[in-house]
Amino acid sequence: MGNRAYNFNAGPAALPLEVLQKAQEEIVEFKGIGMSIMEISHRSAEYEQVHNETQQLLKQIFGIPDGYQVQFLQGGASTQFAMIPMNFLKQGKVGSYVLTGAWAEKAVQEAGLFGEVAIAASSKEQKFMKIPELSEINIHPDSAYLHVTSNETIEGAQFQSYPDTGSVPLIADMSSDILSRPVDVSKFSMIYAGAQKNLGPSGVTVVILKEDMLQDLPKTIPTMLRYEIHGKNNSLYNTPPVYSIYMVNLVLKWIQEQGGLAVVEKNNLEKSGLIYNAIDQSGGFYRGPVDKGSRSTMNITFRLADEELEKKFIKETEQNGFVGLKGHRSVGGLRASTYNAVPYASCKALADFMNDFQKRNG
Ligand code: PMP
Repeated sequence: MGNRAYNFNAGPAALPLEVLQKAQEEIVEFKGIGMSIMEISHRSAEYEQVHNETQQLLKQIFGIPDGYQVQFLQGGASTQFAMIPMNFLKQGKVGSYVLTGAWAEKAVQEAGLFGEVAIAASSKEQKFMKIPELSEINIHPDSAYLHVTSNETIEGAQFQSYPDTGSVPLIADMSSDILSRPVDVSKFSMIYAGAQKNLGPSGVTVVILKEDMLQDLPKTIPTMLRYEIHGKNNSLYNTPPVYSIYMVNLVLKWIQEQGGLAVVEKNNLEKSGLIYNAIDQSGGFYRGPVDKGSRSTMNITFRLADEELEKKFIKETEQNGFVGLKGHRSVGGLRASTYNAVPYASCKALADFMNDFQKRNG
């Protein structure tokens, strides 16, 4: 489609064109029912089929072992920052966190409202430009869990491997890199992600939860904030965000058609590699502030010599069909978000533009 932008938005972000086209095809009349999927009961057989299939597809694609639930919740990943300590941070225990950037910081702050928090490792002194070494992670013996943010969307730093936490449950916020690469899900007691980067549109938060986490949970917290309730009701305690879940269903089928996560990972490395190469081969014209061993394949952050030149860069990209390259307002600079659905051609176009911009301004 000729007039689709080169979309590098950080989230909500690019969706696969094929998914949008399929949704367009089905929006007025879903599979011969004479209505859209948005116009029927969430307890209808037609919707339940989509709901359950979406869970199954995710289990298959992500390799989720038996003994885990897939829940579809609302309130974004931000609500998980509170639900995790509300449900799991029992008195006398501490919530342990690896502090890797702005999103981990928010998770820590929220947990502090409910109980005691320990920082197991931090890269704050490095301005979050490096994920701590696994050997630096110090897990408090009374930890209720260890929480990591697998990809820091704002700074552009990503875990390349995950710590072994022994009997301490490992919980990961994978909002900005879920399904970007294969992961050994069995290492985790919980993985969660707001959908609006790699999974679909905003409105649904996917929670993958090991069933042994559901024992002895407090019954005094609001019903809608209890994992146990959503688990018992297959995420149909109340009306779920049906259209968002339907879109996740289409995105999962698209991932399957790509060939699964090994192929997706290879594509992501190639795509981000084009842009990191443009940075590394620029002789310092572009600077990637993140330590090479922690570079994200999803959010590529970079700087130019000064803010003037960065403004000029943004302006020219906008004139050339690129969208979303401005860094997060809290850190400035530039950021290209290259999620699963961002085509290779967009990344190639950006790398070419970067080389050309350098020639003209270097
Ligand atoms: N965690 C990470 C890593 C994120 O990137 C974001 C959103 N950008 C959030 C949490 C918050 O997600 P939500 O807006 O769905 O609450």
